[in-house]
Amino acid sequence: MRFVSILLLGAALSGSLLAQKKTVEMWPGTQYDPAVPTIKKTLGYEPGERIAPHSHLMKYFESLAAAQPNRVKLIEYTKSWEGRKLIVAVIGSDTNLKRLSEIQTGMKKLADPRKTNDAEAQRLIASLPAIVMLAYNVHGNEISGSDAAMMTAYHLLAAKGDKSVESILANTLVMIDPTQNPDGRDRFVHNFEIAEGLEPVGNPLAAEHAEPWPGGRTNHYMFDMNRDWFAMTQPETRGRVKTLLDWYPVVFVDLHEMGGDSTYYFAPEAVPYNPNIVKNQREALYWFGKGNAKRFDEFGFRYFTREVFDAFYPGYGASWPIYYGSIAMTYENASARGLLWDRSDGTSFSFAQSVQKHFVASIATCETTATNRKALLENFWNYRKTAIEEGKTEPSREYVLLRQGDTTAADKLAEILSAQGIEVRKSKDAFQVEGTQAPQGSYLISAAQPMKRMIRTLLDPDTKMEEDFLKEQERRRKKKQRDEIYDVTGWSLPIQFNVKQIISKSELTVPGDMVMPGKMPAGKVEGGKATVAYLVPWGTQASAKFLAEAFKADLRLMSAGKTFTQAGRKYPNGTLILQVKENSEAIHDTVAKLAILSGADVIAANSSWVDDGPNYGSNNTVNLKKPNVAIVWDAPVSGGSAGAAAFVLERQYGYPVTRIRTRNLGMIDLSKFQVLIVPESQGNLVGELSGAIRRIKDWVAAGGVIIGLGSGTGFLANAQVGLLPLQQELLARESPAAVGSGPVAEAGGRRTATGTAPAPASAAPAADGGPVAGKLFTKEEDYLKAIQSDREMPDDVAGVLCKAKVDTESWIGAGSQEYVNALVNGRTIYSPIKIDRGLNAAVYAGPNDLLQSGYMWEENKKQLAYKPLLVVTREGRGLVVGFTADPNYRGYIDGMNLLFLNAVLRGPGVAR
Ligand SMILES: [Zn+2]
Repeated sequence: MRFVSILLLGAALSGSLLAQKKTVEMWPGTQYDPAVPTIKKTLGYEPGERIAPHSHLMKYFESLAAAQPNRVKLIEYTKSWEGRKLIVAVIGSDTNLKRLSEIQTGMKKLADPRKTNDAEAQRLIASLPAIVMLAYNVHGNEISGSDAAMMTAYHLLAAKGDKSVESILANTLVMIDPTQNPDGRDRFVHNFEIAEGLEPVGNPLAAEHAEPWPGGRTNHYMFDMNRDWFAMTQPETRGRVKTLLDWYPVVFVDLHEMGGDSTYYFAPEAVPYNPNIVKNQREALYWFGKGNAKRFDEFGFRYFTREVFDAFYPGYGASWPIYYGSIAMTYENASARGLLWDRSDGTSFSFAQSVQKHFVASIATCETTATNRKALLENFWNYRKTAIEEGKTEPSREYVLLRQGDTTAADKLAEILSAQGIEVRKSKDAFQVEGTQAPQGSYLISAAQPMKRMIRTLLDPDTKMEEDFLKEQERRRKKKQRDEIYDVTGWSLPIQFNVKQIISKSELTVPGDMVMPGKMPAGKVEGGKATVAYLVPWGTQASAKFLAEAFKADLRLMSAGKTFTQAGRKYPNGTLILQVKENSEAIHDTVAKLAILSGADVIAANSSWVDDGPNYGSNNTVNLKKPNVAIVWDAPVSGGSAGAAAFVLERQYGYPVTRIRTRNLGMIDLSKFQVLIVPESQGNLVGELSGAIRRIKDWVAAGGVIIGLGSGTGFLANAQVGLLPLQQELLARESPAAVGSGPVAEAGGRRTATGTAPAPASAAPAADGGPVAGKLFTKEEDYLKAIQSDREMPDDVAGVLCKAKVDTESWIGAGSQEYVNALVNGRTIYSPIKIDRGLNAAVYAGPNDLLQSGYMWEENKKQLAYKPLLVVTREGRGLVVGFTADPNYRGYIDGMNLLFLNAVLRGPGVAR
């Protein structure tokens, strides 16, 4: 279905100041070579006249590659969850395309100053093109990028006698990734086309601009892939990281869109800068900013720089490549979110016009890369060379990840680092580090390697923001203004994975094997074929994966409710017991297979005799039931939270989840399910589910397990739902009497995906009436105090990692380490529940131990101390579990997986 020919007739008649055009002459005056297929000829419409779906992008790039095989090469680097291809088109001169593998090898040599000497490096710098990678549309509903990608490729291949293009082709290799998020893009395009009428409508509230849940920003599992670069949870990200490390582009641009009322944003970026960014890189941002500005002046485009979009957090496309030595940048274009957009100032612009801006910025970026070819390559070489030198002399010389506790988490973390080009060794023996015994198999990461700065930003417990920036944020906060922190300030993979890390001040020459990407240790069965039972010690990610697989294989199994000792070995609380006689003969083969698949270590027991602790037949041992798991899906549920929960269960543990739309929860037969997950929500979930609340409560009372995540826990605690006796706290003032009471409706207040924080201090209206008693203010503080609401909420926290102590004797804390780290954001703090009402199964540490990574307001630190992270109550025969912070945040808080999986996989066995 296409509406092409008369689309904008009506719009063209409307009286806007700047006439929007459905088609635009993208680079006026250019003569194009007819041998290169045009977008119109291949797809049937002019650039920007339609929003190209993924299939059209592929078709166009394939037609370019077919027509110009000597100057275009397509590389398919991965497939999306929904099976769509992700590609980069490599575009260059005939000469450069012929020597692609030589260029690739040359960049790898330049990337390792330990293997390449200065003379060789100078020779490479003289001969190599500078690789510039333009990556578009990581947010699938930020549409103009992909259409600009086609136009950029066409222009580079077809512009005849154009000096700028000649220089680009001679000096650079341009890599174009037309859509980094094909699933999200097609979701947007499909929703747009469904809502299209006779002609495009610019009104932002028209259906064609208002995407239904979950929108096209994210990928299939609703991950914001512009936060995923260093955790690499999604296949799209993993493929991209590998592509970058295969080629080492010295320039990487991530092209986005922002609100339609904005203009255009490019580098240099806003403060705070990550301290692992070097001076050269900051300077180079100005080359690109000024290069873009020059072209924007010619075209008459408005733009801005520096005010927002920082490069502090390493999970963005505009930051991760920095730490291998690239210049990485974000460009942000005003979005038409369709074919026409009416700005609030009365002007309008068309999709084609927005495509043109990203196209011009793309060409300008290639020009700057070409002009600075040598300097960019030199900077890249120096970045990696100085990294090694600094790594040798700086205080943190070697990072050691102890392989203990959740050993799978340590293995996984080592693999993730290795997949990011970091050299990780696995020790062959136990060794000493800073007075601690590191078990055999612990991982070592030397700072003296080219990726030193990547290592620092991913492994250091804390990355500091500039003092001036922080001072300014505190000043703003005092005035009750919104802070300028764009995203989480706390990350550090060992803390996220809850892997104990020791940083050695000296070099460690421990013999070890290099960890390879994509390889995880397989599990095994110790002791051969069991006569009585197989035991799976609980507490690793692998053991939870084993349980998920065992359920799918319909094995009968139990779970210990306490620690026990058998044949001289101590087993953790939660240990899985699979009795041979309760299963078919196939159990031996199945267990052996599942051990390899899951990575779990299994012990064969030939006697059930327990030396200490409860026997298999004890009341403390529960039969586990294979649960059917449901999750609340659709608005107002947060796509990020629902998607991450489904992703963790399905893709990290292999267990399926049924998604149930909010509107159907009141109708579906819940007795078919044993577990219901309530993710975070961004609106009034109580209102949305009002017709289902009674049924949900009856289902819990009959033995169901309901699990709230983040503000989903607020739903369970809401007075109308009444499933959790939790109360949200107002801001605690120094005088305790001022602390408010009474449950507050569902918590909002999360920093949204786009990073805008809600205005501080939501509050109930003050009482009205006649004049009040007069007050004298003698200092400004008195005034500031007086304007504060009596029902003020704690300030919004951007996202930090906080430590909480787990009750490991409880069923939900079984197998967990004593402490876990949660991602805390927003302003929601709950009072603990009373001992007669339930269990506070994980409680935040004291104010001085709480914060593990990031920047947290002092008041929040004080108030969050000793408050609950995880609570459990019984309701009839069922269980109610509330995580006050989402344990699956961005799919990268692996250290909390076990608590979540205890709730989902072991909860139904514990419920009566
Ligand atoms: Zn974006």
